[in-house]
Amino acid sequence: MSINVVVAGAKGRMGSEAVRMIQQDPELKLVGAVDLKLSGVDVGEVIGIGKIGSSFYTDLEEVLSTFEVDVLVDFTTPMSVKKNMELAIRHGVRPVVGTTGLTPTDIEELDNLCQEHQVGGIIAPNFAIGAILMMKFARQAAKYLPDVEIIEMHHDRKLDAPSGTAIKTAEMIAEVREEHRQGHPDEKEEIDGARGAFFQGFPIHSVRLPGLVAHQQVIFGSEGETLTIRHDSIHRSSFMPGVNLAIKKVLEINHLIYGLDKIID
Ligand code: NAP
Repeated sequence: MSINVVVAGAKGRMGSEAVRMIQQDPELKLVGAVDLKLSGVDVGEVIGIGKIGSSFYTDLEEVLSTFEVDVLVDFTTPMSVKKNMELAIRHGVRPVVGTTGLTPTDIEELDNLCQEHQVGGIIAPNFAIGAILMMKFARQAAKYLPDVEIIEMHHDRKLDAPSGTAIKTAEMIAEVREEHRQGHPDEKEEIDGARGAFFQGFPIHSVRLPGLVAHQQVIFGSEGETLTIRHDSIHRSSFMPGVNLAIKKVLEINHLIYGLDKIID
């Protein structure tokens, strides 16, 4: 029995990569895809892999009502992801979400909804295994090196800043780092934003440039030494083993998991 999957945002950079991954796994079946403008056309033809027999729909509710769907994969926008997740959960469909921009309150509300409907869900700000390791190593290092700055670098089509990965990394560092304000107590920004955005006293800097995919450096500084932990996603295929893992894992849970670090040792 295959796992029936719907992809929202399947025409986009991440969504189309997810469709390719689903097509390559005999355990998964793409039953439909959602795009706000495309309807009735073959998904494979649109994303350039040839006809695959699954169509685009403009209305997620229609797809969820028409087909037996197990999992919704969402790579859309910060504006639509929460509504899509709510719709899926209310239909008993398990969301696997890579879209960033959900707030801690959104995540709490979605977790409550998952538990109310006894439906599992996974939100991962980053599905790349190397990025998960980067976050875990950063949390480990912060125990001993509590002065840290995060520099995240992404392509210039990205809508939210800082990235979901940077926020998740900062949250994991904050779990072990005693909160304190870094930098000179009298430091002054000559240009607004020069020192970045402060999260519990340490800065996050966001770089947006064409040519980049998704990159992050976590720099620790201490007396006479620095430590830099860096991860680079140089192709969007780097996220797909994590998406595949989450699609299978989400069938086994009935609450919301935030972060792939929770399902990878
Ligand atoms: P993208 O190329 O702009 O793709 C988003 C797609 O979603 C577009 O085709 C867009 O259509 C479509 N869309 C917008 N609203 C929709 C809705 N309500 N229903 C269905 N489709 C909708 O963006 P991307 O680079 O793929 O990134 C998508 C999201 O994934 C972003 O939030 C990004 O930060 C995140 N991301 C996550 C990871 C991870 O590992 N978790 C990795 C990379 C990116 P239009 O273009 O017509 O508006």
